Amino acid sequence: MPDKEEFVVTPYEVRGKIDYNRLREQFGTQEITPELLARFQSLAGGSLSPLLARGIYYSHRDLGTLLEGWAKGTPFFLYSGRGPSGPLHTSHLVQFELCRWIQERFHVPMYIQITDDEKFWARAGLSREEITRWGLENLYDILALGFDPKLTRVFFDSRSIAALYPLAIRVARKIPYSTVKAVFGFDPSTNIGLVFYTALQTVPCFWPSWAEGRSVPCLIPCGVDQDPHFRVTRDIAEGLGYPKPALVHSQMIPALSGEGAMSTTGGPGDGALFLNDPPTAIDRKIRNAFTGGRATVEEQRRLGATPEICSIWALWRTRFAETQAKFEEVTAGCRSGSLLCGECKSSLLERIHPFLRAHAEARERAKTWAESAIVTEAPRPI
Ligand code: SF4
Repeated sequence: MPDKEEFVVTPYEVRGKIDYNRLREQFGTQEITPELLARFQSLAGGSLSPLLARGIYYSHRDLGTLLEGWAKGTPFFLYSGRGPSGPLHTSHLVQFELCRWIQERFHVPMYIQITDDEKFWARAGLSREEITRWGLENLYDILALGFDPKLTRVFFDSRSIAALYPLAIRVARKIPYSTVKAVFGFDPSTNIGLVFYTALQTVPCFWPSWAEGRSVPCLIPCGVDQDPHFRVTRDIAEGLGYPKPALVHSQMIPALSGEGAMSTTGGPGDGALFLNDPPTAIDRKIRNAFTGGRATVEEQRRLGATPEICSIWALWRTRFAETQAKFEEVTAGCRSGSLLCGECKSSLLERIHPFLRAHAEARERAKTWAESAIVTEAPRPI
């Protein structure tokens, strides 16, 4: 029997089959409407990221206000982050690919936070050395997406603490323990690092305003599971004299197993396509992936398949259908039964392998400027 507990979405747990409309109501966020998308497209110079056009980003907070501010001459900046616990998989790229797309179109600064502190506090069994190593490896992968070195800065928490802490002090004083306890479900055994951590995740939202001594709006593309962090941020923003950050939320990308979201947690099994997977592993994972196909070829030809439940279709949807026409062709072929799962997977593999090869090359280039992007000093004393 369906009940209100059939799915759970928090920064620390994603479970069950997510009803995104109901989640939007639960979180109190707004739908990204066709009108808002059209406005985004027009301000972006006429094109739209596939991540927006295909509905992967489906919900927002104050995106319309931010875009109208931009149209009237108020610049904004981008902020997103990564908690390093292992290699990145393709779903991790969703938030950063939208950031890169926006940076290219709007020529705005991008701040990336590598939350090595939070990952250490949240994940028992990972050493500081491992997390630091993954932090750098993940950073190379993120920068390799094509961020502009002149417009991109990194807060690597344990190394950037001198830059973050003066503002974190002010932020932390505004957040009562009862708030983080209620929002994140902390209990008496939660370590005090996590209790403090939401202050550090808030700081980049205000850092450019603090650094420049004027109000600079922030836009955060993130998975919808990260929204609770920024609800806390938005609640305290005006009390500190800073604008509330705007957010756009992506849906969770399904695991190749068909169960739950693609995730690093639980070890690098066959549920996720990792960026450092060898080609043979990629082939195996795609060949074994859960699909929305029928039991037999004859049935699929006659009845068609179901793209919405298919982990392969989810990959086409993110980036591997290079045009909207290709995406519609795959979707229509799947539904009609003219496309069979084997050929669909082969066609997808023909795109995944070159993507990963090009990414590996871009990653080497990113290493040449990653260190120089890390912020280590506060802009000025408070
Ligand atoms: S044809 Fe492709 S998209 Fe459709 S169910 Fe099969 S693998 Fe998935």
